[in-house]
Amino acid sequence: MAIISESNRKNPRYRNTQFRYGIIYICVTLAVLIFLNAYTSITSHKIIYQSKEISMLEKCQLAAAEIADLEILNSSTAAAALNGMDGLKVTQLIITDQYGISVYDSLSDAASTDEPAPYPEIAEALKGNGNNVFAWDYHAGAMESRAAMPVFSYGTLIGCVYMMEYDTEQGALIQSLQQNVLTTTLILEIVVIGISCFFANTFSKRFRRIFQSMRIIREGDYSHKVTMGGRDELALLGDEFNDLTERLQTSENKRRQFVSDASHELKTPLASIKLLTDSIMQNDMDMDTVREFVGDIGNEADRLNRMSQKLLSLSRIESQQDGDCEIIYMAPTVERVVRMLSGIAQKSSIEIDLQLKDDSPILILEDDLYQIAFNLVENGIKYNTPGGKLTIQLLREDDNAILRVTDTGVGIPEESQSHVFERFYRVDKARSRKSGGSGLGLAIVRNLVERNQGTIALDSTMGVGTVFTVTFPVFETDES
Ligand code: ADP
Repeated sequence: MAIISESNRKNPRYRNTQFRYGIIYICVTLAVLIFLNAYTSITSHKIIYQSKEISMLEKCQLAAAEIADLEILNSSTAAAALNGMDGLKVTQLIITDQYGISVYDSLSDAASTDEPAPYPEIAEALKGNGNNVFAWDYHAGAMESRAAMPVFSYGTLIGCVYMMEYDTEQGALIQSLQQNVLTTTLILEIVVIGISCFFANTFSKRFRRIFQSMRIIREGDYSHKVTMGGRDELALLGDEFNDLTERLQTSENKRRQFVSDASHELKTPLASIKLLTDSIMQNDMDMDTVREFVGDIGNEADRLNRMSQKLLSLSRIESQQDGDCEIIYMAPTVERVVRMLSGIAQKSSIEIDLQLKDDSPILILEDDLYQIAFNLVENGIKYNTPGGKLTIQLLREDDNAILRVTDTGVGIPEESQSHVFERFYRVDKARSRKSGGSGLGLAIVRNLVERNQGTIALDSTMGVGTVFTVTFPVFETDES
């Protein structure tokens, strides 16, 4: 029944929740039952007390009425007056004079003494202007009730009626009532303990299932799923847990893929460098060839450098929290990119057509926008045909601001179009490598676009050209 988790065993600070909640539950129900028990017992006592008090005082009243009519109060007149009152059914009946001295005692035939009767109820009844007194005791299964009432004749206190009733029937009734309540309380508590153990056990079993799953995940099996069942918070916890492990698995897969892709990509230039250096070392080469080989080594080193920079930038983008965005128009950034790349465009005789009039403000990090535009324009030049054209447009469609880069280049085959945004993916490896490509540019672009609540789409026809369309939500300002 008890949960003894691994951490529980290692660290005594972790207490058994099931045990603790079970004890709390039992204590609370026990307190409620004790309260109910006491309340029932006190209330039933009170009801019996009140009915007894009324009946005893009524009897005293009857006797007092008989005594009050007497001209002289002494033992014989009192005995005569009470003669026909057997129906009172009391254990003891005493009549006293105004000083408390007994003139009649149903339990004793002895002549009256000069001493007042030794019953506190009589003394209390004769105090001041006279009082009705009732008292009771309950012991050894019997109830002893005592009542005393002053007797007045024409407004003058002449004596007192005292009655005592020894009632075993009422006592047995009270005893059986208490017994019943106690038995019911005990049965209820046993049922409560049973139910609380059952629920605590079911609850802790489900908890243990989560602990077990956590341990399995900790060992590295991210494919593991926890099955909780039910529709309560624990089931929700199970769903959240499964969602978390699914994400962990996805990110672990991505990490593995990334490491394997990166090492594969780094292997190629390193292998080239090794081959070139081996050739220089082994062959008796002329200076021109050596220079050419060393130049190739330099190119491969540059490629490695560019690749590591892009990798760094990609991992920075993925781990970075959202930066301080600003509301900007896209045109100045696009113009800056075009200025930077116009040299390479000229070299390949590529005409750049800028259509930036339909500009709208968007909320973005300016550096992000620069990188997006730079990679798309650079690709538009790199994968264009000599003498081709590159059109860069800013457009507005409904609440969206659009950056569209259209080239008249080689195009992207249909089967590759869904892969070009993946890391290290290159359509034509030889061409891409020659142009210094790493297969990381579009992966960076997609990450940046999505980080800024944008979307990117691609439309390409082989031999005709490619269109990249980046869409951002317009940030409405009062001036726009
Ligand atoms: P790279 O650094 O190799 O250019 P990218 O991620 O920028 O990497 O591009 C991935 C691949 O998509 C490129 O290798 C290229 O084959 C293809 N590609 C990207 N842009 C274009 C384009 N404008 N025209 C034709 N092919 C393109």
